[in-house]
Amino acid sequence: MAKQFDVLVIGGGPGGYVAAIRAAQLGFNTACAESNPYADPKGEPRLGGTCLNVGCIPSKALLHTSHLFEEAGHAFEEQGISVGTPKIDVAKMIGRKSKIVEQLTSGIKGLFKKNKVTFLAGHGSFVGKTDGGWQVKVGEEVVEAKNVIVATGSTARHLPGIPVDNKLVCDNIGALDIDSVPKRLGLIGSGVIGLEMGSVWKRLGAEVTILEAMDSFLGAADQDLAKEALKLFTKQGLDIKLSVKVGKVTVGKKSVTVEYETKDGAQKVEFDRLIVSVGRVPNTAGLNAEAVGLKIDERGFIDVDGHNQTNLPGVWAVGDVVRGPMLAHKAMEEGVAVAETLAGQKGHTNFDTIPWVIYTSPEIAWVGKTEQQLKAEGAAYKVGKIPFMANGRALGAGTPAGFVKMIADANTDRILGVHIIGSNASELIGEAVVTMEFAGASEDLARICHAHPTLSEVVHEAALAVDKRPLHF
Ligand code: FAD
Repeated sequence: MAKQFDVLVIGGGPGGYVAAIRAAQLGFNTACAESNPYADPKGEPRLGGTCLNVGCIPSKALLHTSHLFEEAGHAFEEQGISVGTPKIDVAKMIGRKSKIVEQLTSGIKGLFKKNKVTFLAGHGSFVGKTDGGWQVKVGEEVVEAKNVIVATGSTARHLPGIPVDNKLVCDNIGALDIDSVPKRLGLIGSGVIGLEMGSVWKRLGAEVTILEAMDSFLGAADQDLAKEALKLFTKQGLDIKLSVKVGKVTVGKKSVTVEYETKDGAQKVEFDRLIVSVGRVPNTAGLNAEAVGLKIDERGFIDVDGHNQTNLPGVWAVGDVVRGPMLAHKAMEEGVAVAETLAGQKGHTNFDTIPWVIYTSPEIAWVGKTEQQLKAEGAAYKVGKIPFMANGRALGAGTPAGFVKMIADANTDRILGVHIIGSNASELIGEAVVTMEFAGASEDLARICHAHPTLSEVVHEAALAVDKRPLHF
């Protein structure tokens, strides 16, 4: 007889493993199937999905090492510290990154044991439905579950005519395992992943060229912030070319030649490595979705309602495989929400307060609406904007670049959006998220005592500036 579960999660990334843990905590007999090729020391697929294996965590480890390298090269000297010319041991940097990945991914197996989640190694695909629930084939075995949560995530989008071998031409997987600093690195796409990877190798000494098809830079961000980012990244030496039409890409033995067009005409450039970072596509192939009638939308995402319910009763979907931002914390929120909904609770994901972060230097983070969105909606709003230059802690740390911009409703003062470019923006945005989640006003933040000297005072001053009463600018 087939193994029976209350909940079967297909996919062990942030959406899936968190959904499985929460479902088990709520008393469901839960299993999670995972089939990726990143084997752990036991030869089993690693948990953690894209995020832990080839995404958020390894990229942040490399960003940290390259940041230290750059600081040692420039910032130390300014503060009177001489360390000589820093050298980078790329193999050691990659080894450290891999150790962190191993530690975290095996940690999730430990969390599964602690929470009594059954781990099933193997690819999951729908077979059909019986009275016992949904039948899903995992590897060679068919299991049954009353509820299935599909959390199969996404993979890098590739472009026709640009074969990715993850050696000379890389997607995110190869980009996180480059074994030496390329002299000339090309990136196609100036989104989050392109900017983060470009920053890593630029800091380590590569000449970095980013080819972007769009006319605007960071189109989804507040354009005030995007303009500042473009100025700062260009100053750092990232050669960001907009309105580029990539043409023929020729892969040689040791280099890649990219032909492209800009408003200045046809261009040709040779790179030692090329990273393709032009977005991600949802993973639905191999689920046998058609056989059970699971609805996929025209863009390839599993179709879900506001509660992550698919068109099939008892089948749910979360994370990158459904609409919404492709972010690990969004996937986790949805995973928890579905598990709690199954338990009869009011599971919910608030899309209005999902923070976005780009871990460049300076970092970029925002939550809520951009000024251009509010303008397009014809909303009445007021803005407070304070530069980090006016903050003692930022000056002391040698990180005066950037600003905090807060936008509030002109009538009610409710905060509509907060946009930060500056040191530790990824941490500072948390205060804005909490305030917005509680439907707070700029006045609420203005009346809260912020520790001195801290970077959070810039958020405080921005709140005061919304009402035109900043104290330090
Ligand atoms: P995934 O993490 O993709 O996990 C899906 C899992 O399902 C995979 O392990 C896959 O092997 C498995 N699977 C697929 N099909 C099947 C099947 N049929 N049977 C069994 N298993 C299956 N997000 C952030 O929030 N912050 C960041 O800093 C950040 N940095 C990133 C950096 C990079 C380089 C990349 C590529 C992504 C980054 N992201 C970041 C995005 C983040 O990784 C994803 O949003 C997140 O991993 C989505 O989680 P998920 O659970 O939906 O899917």
